[in-house]
Amino acid sequence: MPNIRNFCIIAHIDHGKSTLADRMLEITNTIEKRKMREQFLDMHPLERERGITIKMQPVRMNYKNYILNLIDTPGHIDFNYEVSRALAAVEGAILLVDATQGVEAQTLSNVELAKSLNLKIIPVINKIDLPQARIAETKEEIKNLFGEVAENILLVSAKTGEGVENLLEEIVKKIPSPDLDVGRPSGRPTSFNEPRALIFDFEYSAHRGVIAHARIFDGEIKKGLKLKLAEAKEIFTVGEVGIFKPELEAKNALAAGEIGYIVTGIKEAKVVRVGDTILRESSDLPALAGYKEIMPVVFSSIYPEDQDRFGDLRRALERLKLVDSAIFFEEESSGVLGRGFRCGFLGALHLEIVVERLTRDFGVKVIAAMPTVKYKIKTKKGEFEIYSPHKFPDEHEILEVLEPYITIEILAPPEKLSGILKLLGEHEAKISSTTKFSESRIKIDGEMPLRELMRDFFDALKSVSQGYASLGYEFLDSRPADLVKLDVWVAEEIVPAFSRIVSHARLEYEAEAAVEKLYNILPRALFSLKIQAKAQGRILASRSLKAMSKDVTGYLYGGDRSRKMKLWKKQKEGKKRLGARADYNIPPEVYLKMIRK
Ligand code: GDP
Ligand code: MG
Repeated sequence: MPNIRNFCIIAHIDHGKSTLADRMLEITNTIEKRKMREQFLDMHPLERERGITIKMQPVRMNYKNYILNLIDTPGHIDFNYEVSRALAAVEGAILLVDATQGVEAQTLSNVELAKSLNLKIIPVINKIDLPQARIAETKEEIKNLFGEVAENILLVSAKTGEGVENLLEEIVKKIPSPDLDVGRPSGRPTSFNEPRALIFDFEYSAHRGVIAHARIFDGEIKKGLKLKLAEAKEIFTVGEVGIFKPELEAKNALAAGEIGYIVTGIKEAKVVRVGDTILRESSDLPALAGYKEIMPVVFSSIYPEDQDRFGDLRRALERLKLVDSAIFFEEESSGVLGRGFRCGFLGALHLEIVVERLTRDFGVKVIAAMPTVKYKIKTKKGEFEIYSPHKFPDEHEILEVLEPYITIEILAPPEKLSGILKLLGEHEAKISSTTKFSESRIKIDGEMPLRELMRDFFDALKSVSQGYASLGYEFLDSRPADLVKLDVWVAEEIVPAFSRIVSHARLEYEAEAAVEKLYNILPRALFSLKIQAKAQGRILASRSLKAMSKDVTGYLYGGDRSRKMKLWKKQKEGKKRLGARADYNIPPEVYLKMIRK
């Protein structure tokens, strides 16, 4: 155990975590040269396509006579929960800061997290190979962030590999080995001689069942042992244990201090929960302190395009839940759309990725309703929570609506301040302070409705600051709101998936925008399509999408005029009939485009 170092890399998105991991994999010869590719640990095709890490990935490396267990983590704020879980499994964190960007909002929140768990933090500045690297300023920012703690800040280029070997040396020197009790997670007073492990993630295999990714805190775990899940109270026999290379590699045993996988054989995936503790069957040891219960932030109703595939959609969601424990879903039926699921997500990016995976990984085409936050509504009939815009009651029934508020923290260059303040105003934010964070950064603190954050705030912030502002947020409380439901009608029929809840002040604008957007993405039909936005019984915006002109007379050459007239007439009648039946199916891609903005 004295030779083990467990750590993760934390940073704002794109600061180079996965690339730094690549260099470590190379230096330690963990991956054969011919198998190496950029951002090796981003294994999912979607991660590779988009160049972002969605899921944490552990890997074990050998360096000199040390065992280094690294967990690469996602940087996007939607996936901060993954980071908090990874941090609970390690003793140290490399805090990576891009020298061209400086400290960003996610850097701040990650540092807070790591500090609260008493981890050893090694600050590192990355991308020093770039000519626009602002090394001195970034150093200054990191110093401000840590107070006196930042003694030495390392400089690396994850791209060229400069400084990475040195960093490995620092890791070995500075990060405590797991046997030194350094006040790690509360609820872990002493070391015990019997097995105790924290599940920080899991995967599922059809014939081996749930494979838990775990950090062993006490004792030893090996094949054949009878163990239990402390919280789920489920008993299982270990089928195999092993380590991440990063693919699974079987071992005889996993000892205290190690990070590895445990094949549980549990087929019913629902019982295994991230944060649960693995103990000996008869153990009366206390469970390890897990993580806070995960909180979905945005909700969307998801329906199969084809009702016959409801069962497939359920299975797909269940399977996805096995690799992404943050998804929440429960059955819902909405009449018009049929049977489907109300799903909860960590944020807009998470929602988008899940919808994409349902189609790509599981082949189920879905209709996803406009995302929404959770509202508490008081009516004369009582109080209830609403997650689906199309179920939002009519205005005259509502006594009060409460909506979630968040605190926000923005870091930005001073010259972008006025643009950002204007944007914040447009998103109903209240600013509590603007302070100098460093020579080149100011910090803006404030509050805003979560609903407004979901209204494309991230992208807007990026664009007013040319990418130089970053944002962190946290839940605050619920507050009264002045909201109405805006419905969208296509071909004289309401489309519940397009309903949305908007503030009174923005009603007209949102109505126009919804109609305009649909006008541009809806495919034409054989008849003219009316697209309308309605609220409070009024039509607020309307456009007609012209019928597709199909040249039905093309095959009749020359003269026969009366024949042509006949055909035209027939076609016109056909259009009318179709129009009256409103027989028009909105293709699933349109729903995806609607939620994507
Ligand atoms: P992550 O989101 O923190 O995992 O960041 P990635 O490792 O995916 O890197 C984001 C981008 O920065 C990629 O295009 C990398 O090639 C690039 N990058 C990472 N480290 C360096 C570096 O040291 N120098 C340069 N020039 N580019 C880098
Ligand atoms: Mg990454």
